[in-house]
Formats: sequence, structure tokens, C-alpha cells
Amino acid sequence: MPSIAELLQHAELVDSPPWVTKMASIAELLQHAELADSPSAQLDAELLLAAALGKPRSYLRTWPEREVAADCAAVFAAHLARRRNGEPIAYILGRQGFWSLDLDVASHTLIPRPDTELLVETALALLPANPVAVLDLGTGTGAIALALACERPAWQVTGVDRVVEAVALAEVNRARLQLGNARFLASHWFAALAGQRFQLIVSNPPYIAAGDPHLSQGDLRFEPSSALVAGVDGLDDIRLIIQHAPQHLNAGGWLLLEHGFEQAEAVRELLSTQGFMAVESRLDLGGHQRISLGQWSL
Ligand code: GLN
Repeated sequence: MPSIAELLQHAELVDSPPWVTKMASIAELLQHAELADSPSAQLDAELLLAAALGKPRSYLRTWPEREVAADCAAVFAAHLARRRNGEPIAYILGRQGFWSLDLDVASHTLIPRPDTELLVETALALLPANPVAVLDLGTGTGAIALALACERPAWQVTGVDRVVEAVALAEVNRARLQLGNARFLASHWFAALAGQRFQLIVSNPPYIAAGDPHLSQGDLRFEPSSALVAGVDGLDDIRLIIQHAPQHLNAGGWLLLEHGFEQAEAVRELLSTQGFMAVESRLDLGGHQRISLGQWSL
């Protein structure tokens, strides 16, 4: 008699899953999920099973004895196999929470990170709630732009991305969240924004150095390198943004950039050299200098 674990492991290879005759309970499926390689194995298994059942995670705790229908168990097994292969949970589920929003994600966009919420928090604290134009460069899923648009209904938020699939995805998220004060455009950084000025420009650009060993670890292996890698020191895109931002900022406008935890000093230097004032960095949840900002006041 094979174990449930064995049945699950081979589930994608058979037409009719064997547990059609012997149904497994929620608790049994979780117990035998076998995601030992992942540091968040238990949570991952719960997220995948809850999604397969179309229920919140609390349902699993409430009904551990409940038997799982064969079709849901098969979906769970297929998702487990992808997770075992290292694929990020966000790509398997096609969803990721960011700020207060639930966002669609896809493999051509970076997965929004909790660290990036610092960028949102800082942006909200910098400007009053008055109507202002705000720009998010390299918007990906639209995470930053939509969080700002949601918190500040009077702001007009533009999100741009070079990748047209990302622009389309951000627009899907915008429409589902019904945020009429955000819009998304295809643009390589400022290329499609000639003559437009903003009170605030935010960006979580690619900032990892080509060849950084982290690129071959964890979620990063599955994310688009165009959203991660920026030249030999990881600063190519940040340099370009800082150089061109002054042509797109109002006097007194702000530029806020996320960067690597060892790049803060270099980014502050670039901002100051370009003529930005009030340059400083802020710490992320892990205590690393993760964003830097400056004010354009010429
Ligand atoms: N913060 C991401 C990481 O290091 C990288 C995202 C980026 O390059 N903007 O995992």
C-alpha cells in the first residue's frame, strides 16, 4: 500500500489519481506534503491546499478531518510538485499580497516584497494628501503605484514599465481594485514621458549586480532578470533614473529609490552629485538601509 506522500509525488503522472478510492483528509495531505527544502514548508503547504480548496487558510485548522475531493487533491499535488521544484508560491498561486492589496502576479514581473512597503510608507509621509502627480518607474504588477493610489485618492499616479505584459497585468490589477486615479503606460524609464513632470517619483528598479550568487538561489531563479539585474555593480538603472529624474520633477519634488542593502552610500552620493537636496536613507524591516531619497529644489 503506497503512502499518501508517494501517491502525491506521482500524482502528475497518472490520469486518475489513486486517492479517488481512498480519499485523504486535510490533515493527512498537509502532514505528507514533503516540502522539506523550503524554509516555510508548513506555511507553503497550507497556502497551496487552501488555494486548491478555494478556502481561506483558517478553514484547514477548522476542518482537519474533512476529506478532500479528488480534483482538489490533484490540483494540490500538481502545485506541490512545482513548489518542490523551487517555483515561488506567488507564481504558483498567481497572487501576492502587498500593502493592503491582493495583486495578480505572473512570471514576467517581480514578486512584490514586504521590504518595498517601506517605499510606500515613506512616500505617503513625504507629501500631503493634496492632488499631485506621482510616477512609479518599473511598476511591474503595479504594486507601488496601486498602493499609493489606494491610500491617496487625490493623487494621480502613473506607473510605467518597459515590459508590455507587466503594463497589461498592472492594468488588470488596477481595474479589479477599481482605482480610477492610477494609469499604466509602456515606457522604458522616462522614454514615453517627455515633457511630463511629477511631484514624486518612486522606483524599485533592478539593482542586483550581474553575477551575484543570490540570483541562482530561491525565488530569484524564477523571476525575470530584467527586473533584478542592473550591470556589474547593480547601479546602472539607478544611475540612469537619478540622471534623468530632474527633467521630470517639479521644483521641490521628491525622488525615492529602493536599492540593495549595501548600496545606500553609493546612491546618496549619486543623488547629491546630481544636485538633490535633503538626501537620506531609510531602514527596512531587517534593519538595512533599503531606500534613499532626495528633493529636487533648483
Ligand atoms: N529586493 C529584491 C531581492 O534582493 C530585488 C529586487 C530588485 O532588484 N528590485 O530579492
